[in-house]
Amino acid sequence: MHFQDEPTPPGVREITAAWFEPVTEFDEDELLDEPPTRGLHREPETRRPHERALKRFGGVIATHELAAAGVDAMSLRYLVARRELVRLRKGWFSGPSLTSDVALAWRIGGPLACVSALMHHGLVTAADGPLGHELHVALRTNTSRMPGRLTVAEYPESAQGQLIVRHWSTAAYFSGDRLAVSPDVALEQARHCRPLLARRARARERANGDAADP
Ligand SMILES: [Zn+2]
Repeated sequence: MHFQDEPTPPGVREITAAWFEPVTEFDEDELLDEPPTRGLHREPETRRPHERALKRFGGVIATHELAAAGVDAMSLRYLVARRELVRLRKGWFSGPSLTSDVALAWRIGGPLACVSALMHHGLVTAADGPLGHELHVALRTNTSRMPGRLTVAEYPESAQGQLIVRHWSTAAYFSGDRLAVSPDVALEQARHCRPLLARRARARERANGDAADP
């Protein structure tokens, strides 16, 4: 049957050969069946070993963890020279984008603690009081290195006159992640260290909890 013998569909003035011919060649089955490779395809891993390891450990990483991830001593020197890794202190490194307060805390010896951790967790804000000049740091109880004022002052992140408050507790040190102790531990530390701010943080935490519960 020739196409010109077909009845003209509504709205079509004239049937032409172009209207009737298939527009492109394609396998109709492709429209119905999912390609067999679907779900098997994975994005190729483009991050390098130190980047994967940094992500896994939350931005701060020990030398032996880098070594376990496949970053040897020569790569480490190369990455530090290119500022892709920053040496925080002996045995500890971070990526280049670590915030300055966390970097300074690690140069002193560990993650943010007490009210600095509460700020990190959003339970204390700058409006609660003048906290900009205080840095509270979690240190392991058996830490062998206790840098003096001079050691801290020589770092570029250290604002002049910044008050460093050290909290020694191995349990607290490991309570949160590499950036800050857990909110509960931070609240308990602050309860003794900065009671007024701790009360405000506790109230804010309760308000957040109430907002989360229907
Ligand atoms: Zn404190």
